[in-house]
Amino acid sequence: MFLTQPLHKGRREKARETAVVCGNHRLDFATLTDRVARLGAVLQQLGMARGDRVGMMSLNSHRFVEFFFGTWWGGGVINPVNIRWNPKEVAYSLDDCDTRILLVDDLFAPMAGELRKLSTSLRTVVYCGDGPVPEGMVGYEALLADAQPIEDAPHSADELAAIMYTGGTTGRPKGVMLTHGSLYINALSSVAAVPRETRNAAVVIAVPMFHVAGCGLSLQSILRLVPQHVVPMFDEVAILQAIQAARATEMFLVPTMIKRVIEHPRFAEFDLSSLQMLLYGAAPIDVALLEQAMAALPATSFSQAYGMTELSPTVAVLMPHFHLPGPDRNRLLRAAGTPVPVAEIRIVDGEDNELPPGQVGEIVARGPMVMKGYWNKPAETEAALRGGWMHTGDGGYMDEHGLLFVVDRMKDMIVSGGENVYSAEVENAIAQMPQVLMSAVIGVPDDKWGERVHAVIVLREGMPLTADDVITHCRDQIANYKCPRSVEFRDALPLSAAGKLQKFQLREPFWAGKERRVG
Ligand code: ATP
Ligand code: MG
Repeated sequence: MFLTQPLHKGRREKARETAVVCGNHRLDFATLTDRVARLGAVLQQLGMARGDRVGMMSLNSHRFVEFFFGTWWGGGVINPVNIRWNPKEVAYSLDDCDTRILLVDDLFAPMAGELRKLSTSLRTVVYCGDGPVPEGMVGYEALLADAQPIEDAPHSADELAAIMYTGGTTGRPKGVMLTHGSLYINALSSVAAVPRETRNAAVVIAVPMFHVAGCGLSLQSILRLVPQHVVPMFDEVAILQAIQAARATEMFLVPTMIKRVIEHPRFAEFDLSSLQMLLYGAAPIDVALLEQAMAALPATSFSQAYGMTELSPTVAVLMPHFHLPGPDRNRLLRAAGTPVPVAEIRIVDGEDNELPPGQVGEIVARGPMVMKGYWNKPAETEAALRGGWMHTGDGGYMDEHGLLFVVDRMKDMIVSGGENVYSAEVENAIAQMPQVLMSAVIGVPDDKWGERVHAVIVLREGMPLTADDVITHCRDQIANYKCPRSVEFRDALPLSAAGKLQKFQLREPFWAGKERRVG
């Protein structure tokens, strides 16, 4: 018992009320808890000992919720696999943390044969799709049907619950060790930070459940005993349909997804009047997009979360009232929020000295939501957690009222002619041009300036723009040294599985054979 504790409550208090919906599957709290207790037994039968890792490679589904809670119920540790990885990367992650049991859905079952060849730790592949069980695998539903539900395993707060991989936005993902306590505290403090109606609540989960954001939303819904409607993968129409069908009251999306949903040609066809709250975060949002989203959903409150996998993940929240009209609104909409109740946040310089309000430095955080460390990476763990604070690698500042502003990832900051340029600020300026669909601003090598501000832009169809137009527009908006010196137009930008811009991919060809100074 620990992370599974709310299920006991759900079984008692809301036995016949909906817990999870995915496609044609609808589970009430009693059924979900029963299946979780059976899955705990099944995993033990398949050899899962206390603290063993269990992998899951699947699109979002109701079985993902069962996987989280069933693994914990049986005393194991979850290792949700990033579905964008190729078989080699998956095998690396399975072997890295000695994962012997892997659950796969219909989409990933065909990869199992190759995984068996590549991985030395993998022993058992469990098929958790809806079709016939492929050869060489055991079938999830049949095993569940035959199992006897077991008692919930007891857990303490500092016991490992998950190895969650980071988003892979800046390079190879790192396995983050999160505990029962850190995930529980995060769910509690996220719920406490943004007061929401629970009586008629219905949450749509459309971000990947293999990432901490999707997993965390699922935990929060179970904690609040409200129904979660799971969308298998990001798809604009599927999301719009889910909101309408579920009369959803809340949803979380990352900025790139918000843009795609509100700009979808069929957006106006759907009844979204039930949506009380749109939570967003996980990546910077430009003010132009935020304004556009608020205009598209006038009856919806907005709330931003800032955090990272290493922080279970949320440490700051920009509450709905910051989004309301007022004299300081334009500045407030650039903020990331105030610290959640359990998190302490500081801004420090390169020597870890605390900086005064208004000065940009590295954001560090402390509290019970901080990770135990990176799996199998003691040196990186020590560096990230030095002095007892999690070093986020994000640059930011606090204003005199304790409101946090994230300016850029330190890796994405550009040092041009000795001046710091925050790529996010330049992107914000570029985003105001109606012709621009998406942009990424990166530092590229330059003989004169050290680094040059370079913009990569995707235009809307049939809306031409020249490099000069972009530069002239930026000169109107921001200081000269921050303006792009070169502009390039492309058809698409590289996005991670979570929908975040992978700038390292854009930078790579420019920096081949050269060393780039970071931070
Ligand atoms: P990797 O660490 O593998 O490169 P990642 O950092 O994207 O990937 P996550 O842990 O999912 O992996 O994301 C955390 C990061 O996302 C933060 O460090 C920050 O840079 C960014 N981020 C999260 N929330 C916000 C926000 N509200 N505003 C701006 N940036 C955010
Ligand atoms: Mg990171």
